[in-house]
Amino acid sequence: MTSLYVHVPFCPTICPYCAFHAVRRTPGAVEAYLERLAAEARAIRPRLEPLETLYYGGGTPSYLREAELVRLLNLNLPLAEGAELTLEANPGTLNRKRLELLKALGVNRLSIGVQSFQDHVLRALGRAHRAKGAFRAVEEALAAGFRVSVDLILGLPGQDVEEDLKTAARLGVRHVSAYTLIPEPGTPLAARVQEDPDREAEAFAAAREILGAVGFVRYEVANFARPGEEARHNQVYWRMGFWAALGPAAASHEPASDPGVYALRRTNPPLFRWLSGEAPKIERISPLEHAKEALMMGLRTREGVDLRALEVRTGLALGEPVLKAAAPLVEAGWLEVRGPRLAPTEAGLDRVHSLVLSLWDALS
Ligand code: SF4
Repeated sequence: MTSLYVHVPFCPTICPYCAFHAVRRTPGAVEAYLERLAAEARAIRPRLEPLETLYYGGGTPSYLREAELVRLLNLNLPLAEGAELTLEANPGTLNRKRLELLKALGVNRLSIGVQSFQDHVLRALGRAHRAKGAFRAVEEALAAGFRVSVDLILGLPGQDVEEDLKTAARLGVRHVSAYTLIPEPGTPLAARVQEDPDREAEAFAAAREILGAVGFVRYEVANFARPGEEARHNQVYWRMGFWAALGPAAASHEPASDPGVYALRRTNPPLFRWLSGEAPKIERISPLEHAKEALMMGLRTREGVDLRALEVRTGLALGEPVLKAAAPLVEAGWLEVRGPRLAPTEAGLDRVHSLVLSLWDALS
């Protein structure tokens, strides 16, 4: 495996819409976490090839204190020349000194959870930072030489979406992850923000137009990049490659050796059960399940899915039935066939879910 995800679950505050495994810092928890993480890293090392991509996500990895960051980023993992090393960060946890430290520790890409450059939106989201802090963090990260991606939440009531998108482009970031907020049922924000598909569709149309005008390509449903600035780590997920994972609630996708099993997915338990040594849950993914997942993930991207390669990987003759089911969708302008690849058109990216369901029917 040449990709690794490390989950860091700690956050300064818990956002009212959070759907990730995130916890507040409690006495001793970070210390215990780092010890267990180092042990997990030692155990997995023999199964890793030099890593092409290493991603520290969370949670808010940049929230850790400096000595803790040194330990987090010194897990003695094999790194390939030119590896992409991404760390998720919140604006309030970045300053010049912290950026210098991250640089010295090998981080070369920051994914900054800006969400919006408008104070009233940030307040409504319950975020700890304000617009001024977001500007400063992005500008300092760019000045320090990091590849910077910003996360934006689009389509919120009262948000000037165009202004947020233009600001991101003006600041000079080269990657934007744009999400619409679907509050998890039961979270405090679910009571305040209702889903509005029209508002969300308008927000994505604005993103295509504004970011497209300055050279960004929507290469995945929710991700826009200037050419060459795509998130290499996330591409491993969308291509359904293999990756290892460390930390609480982290899930890997690993090669399997059992007959009839294409891959193993190992999912660690949440923090306190993980600290107590509870074993990961292991799912065995069959070739057919892999084919379905590969369609689902691949059709999120403009590059689509290489059906011939998928047939070789799974040993399943799926090209013909999938292409047959895809024909009316190609006719309608949602999908296109490019050599061995089946891919969504720009318009198709807005309806991936229904496209995937139609194709899955052909595999059942
Ligand atoms: S910063 Fe992200 S991970 Fe942390 S609580 Fe907020 S949404 Fe959840």
